[in-house]
Amino acid sequence: MEYPKVTRNVLLNPGPATTTDTVKYAQVVPDICPREKEFGDLMRQMKDDLVKVVHGDLAKYTSVMFCGSGTVNIDACVSSLVPEGKKILVLNNGAYSARAAEVCEYYHMDHINEKFSITEPLDVARAEAVLKANPDVAAVYCCHHETGTGLVNPIRELGAVAHKYNAIFIVDTTSTYAMRPIDIEKDNIDFLMASAQKGLMSMTGLSFVVGNRKILNESKNYPTRSYYCHLYTQHKFFEEKGEMHFTPPVQTVYATKQALIEYFQVGEQAKWERHQRVWRALLDGITKLGFKSLIPEENQSRLVVSAIYPKDPNWDFTKVHDYCYERGFTIYPGKVSDTSTFRLCSLGTIDAPDIKDFFVVLEEALKHYKIQVPVRY
Ligand SMILES: *Cc1c(COP(=O)(O)O)cnc(C)c1O
Repeated sequence: MEYPKVTRNVLLNPGPATTTDTVKYAQVVPDICPREKEFGDLMRQMKDDLVKVVHGDLAKYTSVMFCGSGTVNIDACVSSLVPEGKKILVLNNGAYSARAAEVCEYYHMDHINEKFSITEPLDVARAEAVLKANPDVAAVYCCHHETGTGLVNPIRELGAVAHKYNAIFIVDTTSTYAMRPIDIEKDNIDFLMASAQKGLMSMTGLSFVVGNRKILNESKNYPTRSYYCHLYTQHKFFEEKGEMHFTPPVQTVYATKQALIEYFQVGEQAKWERHQRVWRALLDGITKLGFKSLIPEENQSRLVVSAIYPKDPNWDFTKVHDYCYERGFTIYPGKVSDTSTFRLCSLGTIDAPDIKDFFVVLEEALKHYKIQVPVRY
C-alpha cells in the first residue's frame, strides 16, 4: 500500500527517536480488539523477541510488557523485587538512578541511596564495600547509561559484585537496549528494562522488563507495593491468558513488531556501529565549534554528547533550539543540576550525513545570534 510521505525530522533528543516510515505506517491497521487471538499471537512472539535482543535463553529469561513510558519499568522493578525485611541498594550517579531512589521513597521502602559523582563511572569497589557492610541488601540497582549526561557504567563488574553478595542485579538499560550490545547473562543482569521508543525506534507507550524467570516466580511471595506496576501479576496474567493484564498500547505494538523486524534485519553490530558513527560525528562537530563535553570521551556511552553552555552573553539555548527546530533538527537540554548543558543523541534512524547537515544549521544559528565561534568559556 502507498502512503503519503511524512516530513522527516532529525531528533537529537534522547528518545522518542527518528523512526522509519515503515514503522510509522505499521500502526495503520484495521481496528482490532486486543483480546483477539490474532493480537495475542503477535504479543507472544514479541515477548520472545524482546528477550532475544539481549541474547537471553528463553528457558531462563522472559519479558513482561507494560503500557506506559519507561518509568513504569523502574516503578515495577523497584516495587516488586525486594523481599520482606530486605533492602535495595541504589547506586545513584545520575537523574535516572535517582528516580529509582525516589520510587523507594514513594513506596516507603527500606533502601540505601548511595550517591556517586555524576561525571564518573560507578566505583565498583565502593559498591562492594556497601554490600559487605549491609548483608540485608537483596537487590542492587543501577542505570547502564545515564541519559542525562551520557555517562556509561560498568554493569558487568557491578553485577558480579551483587551476585557475590547474593543480591539480584537490576539495571535500567532504557537508553542502551537495542543500541549498545547487551548479553543479559554474561553481563550478570537479572532484570533489565527498556521502552519501545528508544533503541528499537518504535512509538511511545510500550515498555518492558526482561528478567530471570526463577526470581520472577519467587517474587510472587514478596510484599506488594503497587497494583498496576506489579511485575509478577503482569507476568502471571500473560503466562495464563496470553494477554497483558490491562489494555495494551495496540498501535504501538504494531509499530514495535515492524521495528523488531527492522532491528533483526540490520543486526546488533551494524546498528551499534551506526550509533557510534553518529556519536563520533556529533562529538567531532561540537568540539570543532569549541564546545566542551561534560563527560570525558572514554566514559561516554557513545550515544549521547553533553555539551556545556558557553560563557557568551549572547548564548541562549532556547533561541538556538528554536532556530534548529524550525529547520528540522531537535536538540535537548541536559539533566544536570549544577552545570548547564545541552544534549545531542545518536538514538534514532539517523546517520552521519544528517549530522553534517545539522552542524551547518547549528553554526548558522550561532552566527545568527552573534555567539562567538569557536565558543568561549
Ligand atoms: C528515557 C529513559 C527512561 C524512561 O523515561 P520516561 O520519560 O518514563 O520514558 C528511564 N531510564 C532511562 C535511562 C531513560 O533514558
